[in-house]
Amino acid sequence: MTIVINMRDGVDGRKIGVAGRLILGGGLVAFPTETVYGLGADALNEEAVRRIFRAKGRPADNPLIVHIADFSDLKLLAREIPEEARLLARKFWPGPLTLVLPKSEKVPSVTTGGLDTVAVRMPAHEIALALIRASRPVAAPSANISGRPSPTLAKHVVDDFYGKIEAIIDGGETRVGVESTVLDLSSERPTLLRPGGLPLEEIERVIGPVEIHPAVRGKATDLARAPGMKYRHYSPNARVIVVEGPRERVRKKIRELVDEYRKGNHRVGVMATEEFEADEFFYLGQTVEEVARNLFKALRELDERGVDVIIAEGVEEKGLGLAVMNRLRKASGYHVIRA
Ligand code: AMP
Ligand code: MG
Repeated sequence: MTIVINMRDGVDGRKIGVAGRLILGGGLVAFPTETVYGLGADALNEEAVRRIFRAKGRPADNPLIVHIADFSDLKLLAREIPEEARLLARKFWPGPLTLVLPKSEKVPSVTTGGLDTVAVRMPAHEIALALIRASRPVAAPSANISGRPSPTLAKHVVDDFYGKIEAIIDGGETRVGVESTVLDLSSERPTLLRPGGLPLEEIERVIGPVEIHPAVRGKATDLARAPGMKYRHYSPNARVIVVEGPRERVRKKIRELVDEYRKGNHRVGVMATEEFEADEFFYLGQTVEEVARNLFKALRELDERGVDVIIAEGVEEKGLGLAVMNRLRKASGYHVIRA
């Protein structure tokens, strides 16, 4: 039995109390954040955290992010808080930035996928913050079945988890649309493990140059530090093809590909920042912020409309564009065409 809790009109203290008690009782509650919906459980309760992995079909070595509502909770979770973490938290929390720090012994190793580091963030969403305050630090990966596109609407969570978890809080569409930026501060140099809702440029403005893990831009083989990156991700059922390059050439290439696949009797969907003639079309918007917000919804929706092939227009890897291209390339299984 899953209860769907409507909170589209903002935080409701009584309903938050119900959801908080479900978390404290070891249950699973999906909730909105500013990035995507999370599938939450008490981060310090091993059995509850195990249920997250089971419900998602998530490999046990893919660590979870622990969500907090107050900076003081960080002291409970992290063994050490370097100066950079304080600076970044002051500037960007609550917000779409996750910091990886040496973990304290309070955090069960199931939560961190067996690592001796813990990933922590403070979400910029009043429902998420109220839920955490009503319970405890909440471990929450994206609320999708492992490998599927992340959820940006409560409907996406219902599609993947109805009947399998205790509750889903519907807080409407998420604002950012891609997951948080993950920054490792546990080793020698700050390293970007996953681009996300906070642009790298903004982080570098505060702490200077950041190293970029090779997995961020392409297919990396040595992924020891970012276990989550080695798994298939964000994939709809349809085959996804990403077209990258100068705008005009990309447009031409997309038109050619549509013709080619249609001749081969495929139903073709296009997702792009301008209109294309295809069996199905999803408009991603003009700005990179809009593209990020619509990305996962587009993948899920084109799938539902029954296309066999999705052709996606690539964007420039600046600002949120780095996160968008990282997700698109993964969704395509690195089926990328340079126009
Ligand atoms: P998700 O919650 O589905 O967005 O996935 C969380 C991601 O955060 C994982 O896939 C990892 O890439 C990253 N992550 C979480 N904890 C750690 C950690 N301790 N060290 C490195 N990366 C982490
Ligand atoms: Mg995820």
